[in-house]
Amino acid sequence: MKEWARTLESLEKTKSTSSKVELVASYLKSGDPEELDLKARFLSGQALPLGSPDPLNVGWSLILEALSEIQALEPGWESVYREYGDLGEAVFRVLGEKGWKESGPPVSLRELGATFEQVATIKGKSSRQRKKLALLNLLPRLSPVEVKFFLRLIFGDLRVGLKENLVEVAISRAFSVSLPAIRKANLLLSDIGQVACMAKKKTVEQAALIPGRPFKFMLAETVLSSGELFLKDYREYLAEDKYDGIRAQLHFSSGVVRLFSRNLEEISRHFPEIAQSMTGFPHEVILDGEIVAFKDLVLPFAMLQKRLHRVKPEKVQEEIPVSYFVFDLLYLDGRSLLYQPLSERRRLLSSLSLPKPIRIAHQVKVRNAEEMEEAFRKSRTRGNEGLVLKDPKSPYSPGKRGRQWLKYKKELSTLDCVVVKVEWGHGKRAGLLSDFTFAVRDRHGALLTIGKAFSGLTDSEIEHLTSWFREHALKDGGWGLLVEPKIIVEVAFNGIQRSSRHKSGFALRFPRIKRIREDKTVEEISTLEDAERIFMEGGR
Ligand code: AMP
Repeated sequence: MKEWARTLESLEKTKSTSSKVELVASYLKSGDPEELDLKARFLSGQALPLGSPDPLNVGWSLILEALSEIQALEPGWESVYREYGDLGEAVFRVLGEKGWKESGPPVSLRELGATFEQVATIKGKSSRQRKKLALLNLLPRLSPVEVKFFLRLIFGDLRVGLKENLVEVAISRAFSVSLPAIRKANLLLSDIGQVACMAKKKTVEQAALIPGRPFKFMLAETVLSSGELFLKDYREYLAEDKYDGIRAQLHFSSGVVRLFSRNLEEISRHFPEIAQSMTGFPHEVILDGEIVAFKDLVLPFAMLQKRLHRVKPEKVQEEIPVSYFVFDLLYLDGRSLLYQPLSERRRLLSSLSLPKPIRIAHQVKVRNAEEMEEAFRKSRTRGNEGLVLKDPKSPYSPGKRGRQWLKYKKELSTLDCVVVKVEWGHGKRAGLLSDFTFAVRDRHGALLTIGKAFSGLTDSEIEHLTSWFREHALKDGGWGLLVEPKIIVEVAFNGIQRSSRHKSGFALRFPRIKRIREDKTVEEISTLEDAERIFMEGGR
């Protein structure tokens, strides 16, 4: 771990992106080749492999408890924390000042990886105690700088300006393999560690979909009017209902069903009826679709959310049944279909007899604005949000947001924004961080504020977020906090106007938070161009 922490320390001090890439490339080439997979994964800020069935579930308070037990915290450490706004940095400083020396055998990356995997599986009675013991086995053996990056890795953000895409560049540089080949392999495998090993062996070209292992979803851009779509050239689209639920990839292989959410977390246990229905299904498949609450008709999203928060979903299964509306078939009996045109994938999908509650998404062909409007109206009467219009010739491009898929929600135009600042509420909401300022991103990833909203969330959501924000504050200004840009909210509004009040140059009129988007990351929020397009269209 020493070498890993040292590399991260150098990365933290290095501003230029190309120097960062060089540093990572030489780190990947050096040292124990047996640890290459973990080096690449941990540098990407992933404590666990993507798609792991259980999250780490090690929170701030458990870590503080473990640190106090080994006397790693001094009274007054909170003020150091407030100064740096980051637990890893604060503990690093406190330990440095104390002259902390680690003792015991050094921790290897292998041991670290094994501990993370073991901790994730700990459940049930006394799980907190057992997780703490696992932390206590490592912490005394780490130097201050190792502790710093260990804590940051647990929280999934190393804060050294290194994202997975730069690790991809470094792998390409280290092993002289073309970057597009690395990117493609990583999209298919969602395992940067394995991709690094394949690059070393010059076998990335062999990367292929593996049932049971999730990969990034194809995404849609927004289209604001039917006129816009058919204006440029005459084209035919496949118009599917846009279901308002939870996007899910279903993998069925060797009798095992696994469902993954958009951020590649396994969500199978929330929907036992979907898994059960596949028993005895005669094909090996990977499906893409949306899970919705459904009882003869599509039920509101809020009903589905109730299911997610249940420890025992079986108890509400009858009250809130779900259906899985499938709109894509990506793998069938040993064959990847990613590069087949959508029309062919759909033909194959229709030939499977999928068991209920799995259903095939509603789809019609549309050739002009009138047909599109008609399809939109019908989708709405079925209780859905609108349409997703798809180019019938398009392949499935994992991780790509493009014009081959277009979402059409019309009057429901919303922006997905990230919360950057929160302020203390008043009256009923005193003591709660209830006023949110949120931002969109520009082409380079900079966050630009666009509005502020006070309402839309339930009391329990605000309470939960208040403690999250306290733990993830970057700066405490008295009036409230600047916070880590992690919480994504879908914001509805009545209009958009030019304004110098916010950094984006726009302000939303009557913004209100529709929901928290737990499935989205900051890389996926709406862009300044999205705001501009809505503005140009008259603000809706
Ligand atoms: P949005 O969440 O507004 O960015 O819209 C994109 C989302 O719509 C996708 O990520 C899916 O979760 C969802 N969706 C619902 N129905 C479909 C469909 N037929 N095709 C593709 N995506 C769909």
